[in-house]
Amino acid sequence: MRTKPIRIGLDFDGVVAYNPFRVVRAPWAYFKRNILGIKKLTFFYPQNARQRIFWKILHQSSMFPANGVDHLRALITSKEIEVYLITGRYGFLRDHLYQWLDRHEMSKLFHDIVINKKDEQPHIFKEKAIKKIKPAVFVEDNLDIVEYLNGRTPTKIYWIYNITDRFHPYPYKFPYLLKALKALPKLSP
Ligand SMILES: [Mg+2]
Repeated sequence: MRTKPIRIGLDFDGVVAYNPFRVVRAPWAYFKRNILGIKKLTFFYPQNARQRIFWKILHQSSMFPANGVDHLRALITSKEIEVYLITGRYGFLRDHLYQWLDRHEMSKLFHDIVINKKDEQPHIFKEKAIKKIKPAVFVEDNLDIVEYLNGRTPTKIYWIYNITDRFHPYPYKFPYLLKALKALPKLSP
């Protein structure tokens, strides 16, 4: 039996919670890069009350536990992994996150829940969190963030791809959480 659980980090939206809006990411990123000519990686931050309401509604859609959450629970219960939830969600979505986790009986599942309290750019925030926590693996669904994080730290970045990105070559790509969890380094001999 393994004595020490493998430490892993999980993104929330698109990894632990399935979000139908995530298919929008790829065309939007393409548009930004190739039509608008924006090369620098930046993410939208809602500036006023109206934008924040819209942003909340958009995130309400992240309401289904991803395929693999049951297996996640089992691996945590058997102490094979310890899991840090590392979400780039901005601070004003914090309550909604906890409500969602409570509703799905997941708020006590994680070793820690690390929230982007200072509203930093999500990729910068995640880089800092990963450097501090040092998980063996971090699972992320946003390709831009995957490419930003990959190679910056010793942490292996697993990518959950979506239908529009699926042909993009990447060594650790998975269609959903369950497949990513099954690919974790072997736990016991
Ligand atoms: Mg995500």
